[in-house]
Amino acid sequence: MPVDSTEFQERIGKLRETLHLYRAQSWLVTALPNVRYLSGFTGSNGILLVSADRAILFTDPRYQTQASLECDCDVKVAKGPILAEAAKWVRRLRLKSVAFEQNRIGYEDYVRLKETVEAVRLKPVSGAIEHLRMIKSPAEIATIQASVQLNSAALEQALKHFKPTMTEVDLAAEIDYRMRRLGADSSAFDTIVASGPRSALPHARPTDHPIRQDELLLIDMGANVAGYASDMTRTFAVGKLDAKKKRMHRAVLESQLAAVHAVRPGVTCASVDASARRVLRGFGMDKLFIHSTGHGLGLEIHERPRIGRKEALKLETGMVITIEPGVYQENLGGVRIEDTVVVTSSGCQVLTPTGKELVVV
Ligand code: ZN
Ligand code: ZN
Repeated sequence: MPVDSTEFQERIGKLRETLHLYRAQSWLVTALPNVRYLSGFTGSNGILLVSADRAILFTDPRYQTQASLECDCDVKVAKGPILAEAAKWVRRLRLKSVAFEQNRIGYEDYVRLKETVEAVRLKPVSGAIEHLRMIKSPAEIATIQASVQLNSAALEQALKHFKPTMTEVDLAAEIDYRMRRLGADSSAFDTIVASGPRSALPHARPTDHPIRQDELLLIDMGANVAGYASDMTRTFAVGKLDAKKKRMHRAVLESQLAAVHAVRPGVTCASVDASARRVLRGFGMDKLFIHSTGHGLGLEIHERPRIGRKEALKLETGMVITIEPGVYQENLGGVRIEDTVVVTSSGCQVLTPTGKELVVV
């Protein structure tokens, strides 16, 4: 179910409704994922100007054909810098004020913008479009689900080719290859394959060391399908694990299940995070859990909301988040288990089909 043009119009409509909050007559959208969200444009160079009655996408000649195919709004192709062209249109449309994305514009672009639209009031805004993006439409949820399923299928295929002599890089490359063969645009982030003590590094880069026997093996991977990310972590046993490592896996699994169980509309992100930590405390492992419990995902791999200790934001139906507690013991190893879940009216639905029990590879 692809996102259709009415949905883009609705999104631009919702953006227009925010203009009065910032006492602005228009929006200048510079973050590419936000441009894509509002217009459907998938190119690498685009800016969107939205006023009460106009929506104009600015891009360069490379994207002339693509932009008119992908977008319903007006398309202006600039030979020079597209920000200068957008600024020219701000003046041409006699807009007196422009809301802009203060956290998603480079300093040089900001200075150039300020100089070009001298008489126009610039209103710095942070996170407004990201806020709209938190609640996913049925079409978006279907696309994320497809991404999640592809990601799980890629892991299953890659594990069939697993050999104990493989290096971390070999296995990561196998995973990426399977993702692409299954139809992913790309991986959503650099695939993490970390074995033995390296699994204690939450964001380890794969190395050319052979994957070790009788150790933990942590794999964190995500696909990008039609622009939407998936994100999954599983931790495996390569050969035989000692009791300590098995207990780490048990603790994280119980913690993850408790946090998933806590997800429903109306609860705060902090309370979901607390559910994960409570279980780990029971195992004496809460101090080994050094990151937040999860994050939203969609057009970007990390989106709002953050499922963290202090997040007072309440979950709502249609949010898609990850639940990914982990414990990391230096010189020993780490365990993380991560699923993607969608918040539903009665609780949540786990999208990730891959099993979570400890599997020996
Ligand atoms: Zn992940
Ligand atoms: Zn994640």
